[in-house]
Amino acid sequence: MNEEVTPAGPVSQPHVPPEHPAVSQANRRSDYWVLAAGVVTSLLATGLVFFTSIASVLSGYDEDVYYEDTAADAGFFGDLLSFVVIGGIALILILTLVRMMRQQVLGNALQVEYSDYAWLREWSNQVAQDLHMPRVEIMVTQDPVINAYAFGFATPYTIVLNSGSIRWLTQEQLKAVVVHEMAHVKYHHTQIGTYLNLLRLMPILGTLNGWLLDFWSRRAELTADRLALCYLRDNEQVKESLIGVHVGPDVAKSFNDIARQWQVYMTSSYFNRFTQTFSSHPFLVRRLQHLDAKTAELSPMWSQAEVVKKPVRTRSTTKKSSDE
Ligand SMILES: [Zn+2]
Repeated sequence: MNEEVTPAGPVSQPHVPPEHPAVSQANRRSDYWVLAAGVVTSLLATGLVFFTSIASVLSGYDEDVYYEDTAADAGFFGDLLSFVVIGGIALILILTLVRMMRQQVLGNALQVEYSDYAWLREWSNQVAQDLHMPRVEIMVTQDPVINAYAFGFATPYTIVLNSGSIRWLTQEQLKAVVVHEMAHVKYHHTQIGTYLNLLRLMPILGTLNGWLLDFWSRRAELTADRLALCYLRDNEQVKESLIGVHVGPDVAKSFNDIARQWQVYMTSSYFNRFTQTFSSHPFLVRRLQHLDAKTAELSPMWSQAEVVKKPVRTRSTTKKSSDE
C-alpha cells in the first residue's frame, strides 16, 4: 500500500548544453607527451646533478674506512630528505605567490565585473559555459603594451588584459584574446605552468629546465590558438588579434597576405626554428601558418549544419537584433 511510486513524468533537471565541439577539435594528445618528455628530462638532469653532488660528498668519506657506510647512508637519506623538504617549501611558496599575485591585480587593476567593460565578463561567462569550464575573472591593468595573460592553479582563475589591448584591439579581437587565454585555463596550462615553476626556478638547472619545458609551452600556445579558432570559426579574427599583439596597431593592417607569405618564406630555415626554441611562444609566422592549416582542415566541417551554432555576442545584451 505504501509502496514508493516513482514519478511517471520526465525528471526535471536543469538543461546542460553539450560541451562545444571546439574543445575536442583543438585538443592534441601529443601535447601531453611533449610535456611528459620535458618533465622527465628535467628531472633526470636534476637527479644527475643531485646524485653527482651526493657522490662528491660521499667521496669525502673515503679515507675514513670505519664510518664509510654509515656516512654514506646518512648522507644519502639526509640529502634526499632535505631535497624533499626544500621542494615542498618551494611549492608552498610558489602557490602562495600566485595567490598574492591575484590579490595584487585585484588591488591595483580594474576588475571588469561591474564596470563599463562588463561585456567582457558576459562574453567570458558565455565561453565558460560553452566550454564546460570554470568562470574566469578579467582584470585590466595599466600597461601600454598590447598583451594579456592568464594565471591560477584553482578557482578563481584570472585573466589580465593590458590597457594597451583595450585601447588598440577591436572588440572582436579582444574576444579572440579572451578565448585564447581561457584555453590556457580549460586545458590546465595555467595549473601545469604553476607546478613547472618548481623546475624552472631551480638554481643552476633552471635555465636548462626552462628550455626543455618550453617545447611544451609553445605547443600549449598553439593549442590555445586552435581553441580560439575552433570556437570562433573565424580565422581572420584570430589572426588579426595575434598580428595586433605582435606588430602593434600602426602596421597591423599593413601586414597583408603577401607580406605574411614573404615572412613565412624568410623564416623557413632550420636556424630560425632553432632560434625559436629559446622562446616561450611560437613565432608569429608559425602561429599564422598553423591557424591557416587548421582552418583548411576544419572549415568543411564547420560549414555543415551539424555543429553547434556559432556563438555571437554583442556588447549590448538588452537589444535584440531584428535580423535574428
Ligand atoms: Zn597564450
